Amino acid sequence: MDKGFDCVVIGGGAAGCFAAIEFARRCPDARVAVLERGSRLLAKVAVTGGGRCNITNSFGDVKSLERVYPRGHRLMKRLLYKFGPEDTFAWFEREGVELVTQDDGCVFPRSQNAMQVVNCLVYLMRKLGVCVMTETRAVSIVPDGEGYRIETSGGIIGAERVIVTIGGQPGGRGYSLLDGLDIDVVDCVPSLYGLCVDDGGLKELTGTVIENAVVSLTGTRIWAEGPMLVTHWGLSGPAVLKLSSYAARILSERDYKADIMVRWLTGDREDIAERLRELASGASGKQLHNVYPRKLNGRLWLHLLRRAKLDAGMRWGALGGGERNRLVNVLTGDMYHVVGKNRFKEEFVTCGGVALSGLKYDTLESRSHPGLFFAGEAMDVDAVTGGFNLQAAWTTGYVAAQGAAGV
Ligand SMILES: Cc1cc2nc3c(=O)[nH]c(=O)nc-3n(C[C@H](O)[C@H](O)[C@H](O)COP(=O)(O)OP(=O)(O)OC[C@H]3O[C@@H](n4cnc5c(N)ncnc54)[C@H](O)[C@@H]3O)c2cc1C
Repeated sequence: MDKGFDCVVIGGGAAGCFAAIEFARRCPDARVAVLERGSRLLAKVAVTGGGRCNITNSFGDVKSLERVYPRGHRLMKRLLYKFGPEDTFAWFEREGVELVTQDDGCVFPRSQNAMQVVNCLVYLMRKLGVCVMTETRAVSIVPDGEGYRIETSGGIIGAERVIVTIGGQPGGRGYSLLDGLDIDVVDCVPSLYGLCVDDGGLKELTGTVIENAVVSLTGTRIWAEGPMLVTHWGLSGPAVLKLSSYAARILSERDYKADIMVRWLTGDREDIAERLRELASGASGKQLHNVYPRKLNGRLWLHLLRRAKLDAGMRWGALGGGERNRLVNVLTGDMYHVVGKNRFKEEFVTCGGVALSGLKYDTLESRSHPGLFFAGEAMDVDAVTGGFNLQAAWTTGYVAAQGAAGV
């Protein structure tokens, strides 16, 4: 064995770098190393939030953690008390990264530059003397006396404690590192993607943003709400990304072929029928295409009239009960066929990973392998968009470091 470390972190992403810093701060004399298979640290953080880095969320609008962390909400509930969004805010501001909270709760660096976060973490690791080994892939972890032997692409490294933060592993391939340790890994499937929809009419609406839509997966109780974007290939935006997260497993099982229902306006059927009656009475002499609910735009309205098989030139006053019903049906439950998923330029995380049942919740240490810890997306924890995934990386990195340091 050529090198011995007190703690080796495998993976130089958000969770790994944060864990290395927190461990090194707790154990100033310890030898700490980060192994990163890529050529630079924090490559993903550099592109988060479209290069702006949605570093956390105020959690102000969060009614249930289950809606935010479809996988891992119980664990996160427990761990957010140890290191939550306020702690993240204070931590980064203390290190000179000034943050701002948007109206929607998303938190970004005031500089709007993800590289400020990357540089901050890299600087701290250097200052704390963390040994960074890039282009070093960990291949296997083998128990060795009181510690572990890590086989890497650059040789064998010894470690008393190991923190595994290899990130999400699409298809689960990267977990071969754990072969031989008998650690349960929950099947990995993608989460957070747009849905390709087979509908020519929708294509004509490319670029349309719906302020608040509800999208549901037919035949299930899975639904999501929020802004929605029509693209040239289908539907995207927060509501759809959330749906892809809640339904990650079921959509994968169905090979991304499914029917979804779009509710274009908020409110129940009765509300919407009433709003249409009001429109009709205030504009009875006007044609349907000229007067429409305020939350929709003209192009979308024409599309919806076509979906309801209504003549756009018809006068509002001539709209009968049955026709109004057809319009209400389309506004509250417009069905589309999903033909695949899209990941072009989208946020993308993995659902699945190291099973939480095999970990001690308070330290993230493996139940069967003392001294082996996990953090970040490598675990079966993932969130919807809004800064919650990075918060999970900071929180779990912090807790694993605390557990590994024993303080
Ligand atoms: C385009 C994009 C934008 C995003 N934007 C946001 C956002 O704004 N806000 C938010 O909250 N979340 C965002 N996310 C999600 C967020 O980036 C991740 O959830 C988070 O980075 C996970 O951190 P991690 O450290 O667990 O994993 P990662 O950041 O994936 O880091 C894991 C590291 O481990 C390395 N590694 C893997 N295997 C090995 C091995 N065997 N040996 C050595 N090294 C290895 C990898 O190269 C990688 O560097 C975004 C994701 C993407 C893809």
